Amino acid sequence: MVKAFESPAVRKVKLGKSNLSVSNIALGTLPFASYRNNKNDFSALVSYAYDIGINLFDTAEIYENYELLGKSLRGLEDAIVISKSHAIDRRDVDRSLLTARRLMNREVDIFLLHEQESASTIRGHLDALEYMHKLKEKGDLKAIGISTHKVDGVRGALNFSEFIDVVMTIVNYAGLGINDGTRETMESAISDCFNANIGIIGMKVLGGGHLLRIIDKAIGYIRELNFVHSFLLGVETVDELKLDLALFNGIEIEKDLIEGCKRKIRHIEIEPWCTGCGICVERCGQKALRLINGKVEVITERCVLCSYCAQVCPDFSIKVV
Ligand code: SF4
Ligand code: SF4
Repeated sequence: MVKAFESPAVRKVKLGKSNLSVSNIALGTLPFASYRNNKNDFSALVSYAYDIGINLFDTAEIYENYELLGKSLRGLEDAIVISKSHAIDRRDVDRSLLTARRLMNREVDIFLLHEQESASTIRGHLDALEYMHKLKEKGDLKAIGISTHKVDGVRGALNFSEFIDVVMTIVNYAGLGINDGTRETMESAISDCFNANIGIIGMKVLGGGHLLRIIDKAIGYIRELNFVHSFLLGVETVDELKLDLALFNGIEIEKDLIEGCKRKIRHIEIEPWCTGCGICVERCGQKALRLINGKVEVITERCVLCSYCAQVCPDFSIKVV
């Protein structure tokens, strides 16, 4: 246990034009996606997060961890759950919400259209978005919006601001994972959304793990951003959360303590039995995979270690380790 990091402060903020009061730090559950096979104690992590004031918990249909999250949140009725789906129309929205409710045994509070790339993509999902808006008006959802890895996605949200309460997007020190712009162009797009009273949730603050080597700088960077309401931390253990929060709150930590708490830096491995089918290349929104001589290669600097490619590989040839 890392005693130096006890009692980190989390505060509540109003999430844009929604009526929600959310913690400025949210718990991301991608590290506990079913296909990650994570053996850490998720329930202990959720309990600790909740006890220190984190009330925002993020998942997605494709993480396939609804049951785990629902079980871990049992009894924590005021926790706020974000989920994301690739719903295209109202039938998809109903199906997604029904699945979430059945597996979590609780409601989704904030529902986002996943991986929206631009205004055109959002327009293509308008039936779903309009329907989500109706569900919100009826009180079935508390807020709705999109998630995106792209500057164009964030800017696109402005065209639909009558529907969109929340934008979840990439924000990190090195601009990692923003493949249609830079850290600066993303900051500018986010800032415009923030000024339009859209709630902003920042994700990939450690670039999927690539920024762990400079975790103090990476977390120091987000601490200064005043146009993001809440930052998702995709940690695996209570100690990792304590370290991130201590850095976020500007608590001075000795270098060797940071070193001691640094988590394993992950990377992606392609197994030799890859057939070169190209399914993963299509799936990777980051354009971080390419086929060379019938085998897949990873362009490391583009990869945010989201594991989406591993999820679709029919031969289990991709491992994020
Ligand atoms: S983990 Fe896979 S899908 Fe995700 S960015 Fe890296 S290569 Fe692309
Ligand atoms: S989906 Fe799997 S088998 Fe197909 S190219 Fe990608 S790694 Fe290889």
